[in-house]
Amino acid sequence: MAHYELRCRECGRSWGNQPRSICDDCFSPLEITYDYDAVKGALAQGSVDQPKASRERIAQRSPNMWRYSELLPLPAGYEPRLPVGFTPLFQTPHLAERLVGATNDSKTAARNLYLKNDAVCLPTLSFKDRVVAVALAQAQEFGFDTVACSSTGNLANAVAAHAARLGLKAWIFIPSDLEPAKILGTQVFGANVVRIAGNYDQVNRLCSQIAEERRWGFVNVNLRPYYAEGSKTVGFEIAEQLGWRLPDNVVVPMAGGSLITKIKKAFDELAKLGLVEEKPVKFFGAQATGCSPISTAVKTGSAEIEPQKPATIARSLAIGNPADGHYAIQTIKHSGGWSEDVSDPEVIDSIRLLAETEGIFTETAGGVTVGTARKLYRQDRILPEETTVLCITGNGLKTTDVLAGVYEIERPIAPKLAEFEKYLNETLDNTEVAKEAATVGA
Ligand SMILES: *Cc1c(COP(=O)(O)O)cnc(C)c1O
Ligand SMILES: [Zn+2]
Repeated sequence: MAHYELRCRECGRSWGNQPRSICDDCFSPLEITYDYDAVKGALAQGSVDQPKASRERIAQRSPNMWRYSELLPLPAGYEPRLPVGFTPLFQTPHLAERLVGATNDSKTAARNLYLKNDAVCLPTLSFKDRVVAVALAQAQEFGFDTVACSSTGNLANAVAAHAARLGLKAWIFIPSDLEPAKILGTQVFGANVVRIAGNYDQVNRLCSQIAEERRWGFVNVNLRPYYAEGSKTVGFEIAEQLGWRLPDNVVVPMAGGSLITKIKKAFDELAKLGLVEEKPVKFFGAQATGCSPISTAVKTGSAEIEPQKPATIARSLAIGNPADGHYAIQTIKHSGGWSEDVSDPEVIDSIRLLAETEGIFTETAGGVTVGTARKLYRQDRILPEETTVLCITGNGLKTTDVLAGVYEIERPIAPKLAEFEKYLNETLDNTEVAKEAATVGA
């Protein structure tokens, strides 16, 4: 017997383990629940000093997301084929000083702002590798030889790569306007890519219909409850990397709204198992203004989502009718957090700010997170003395097209020292002139 199973989030009916995401009785989403006594026992190895023994046991394992296997819905004896996750968490003092604004205590913020960098999650450079890793473990267990997904880009890359590694066939459905790097970064793994003339919500609806017709494992449709659990590893890692401690705040980009609810679940589970001390954590959601159904609901005090038609460069977050929107709103509200959204120009400025201050090149979703954090500091919803973690979820090399036109490409110069000296003088002159113009303008 597995130590986990599907249960309806609303009526509580148990559904065992099967490829299914909705309760037939009340049409609510299913969620994985665990036998936490079994988890505790497995982690503690019969020691009297349980939390400490369990922490040490986890710490001895390989640095990837599989170190938390007991808290993931994995088939018994599952042997992972890819070392996904355990991405860096580090302080970002220069970014902090720029985010808090002149009136706030920037030196204090500099000590307390952290970044969780899934821009370097392997193998496909976004946090989606985590969810796919778990979904495909179950896809194999359920006997699917073909896996599929509807995707805003990063999920497409992850499903295609993991499927190649595991020897599964992959069918990927995407809205036709995705970034070229995300399309190419799916095709290269030999996946079948179907471009749909429509937005993500239409692609997703189509996938639900296909899932009824074919025996395919759609990671975010019939395997969705298993898939979503992979996001918890972001939360486990944040706590472990802070020294088995929960932060005061996390800022999380939201598309379907699943990640933010799963970081909350991860923190709750660690507290329940005694691996961290229980404490209140505020959850802050980040969206692009051009697709902000969740942040709009939070800001207007509504408990339900009003679907939107996405119009933003943050395509990875462009879900107008988020599947977990309702639960994301709850997570944010119950925690005392908030949600904000930022315009496309702010997304670009924030991508540049993070790159220039900390040397991290994130995609548009990361720009959304950084821009949102800036607003939250300036609204005093996040205070400089609070430990705050920004979740950077994807890599900037996949969305370089949004920066087209931001930087000039200089004309080439001859490979001669004299040419370079001349070039340098001109450039410095121009910079000085530009500075003066800025001062005069101000
Ligand atoms: C999918 C995605 C998210 C949001 O995930 P949800 O769980 O759907 O809210 C955030 N960032 C990036 C880069 C993504 O690809
Ligand atoms: Zn139900």
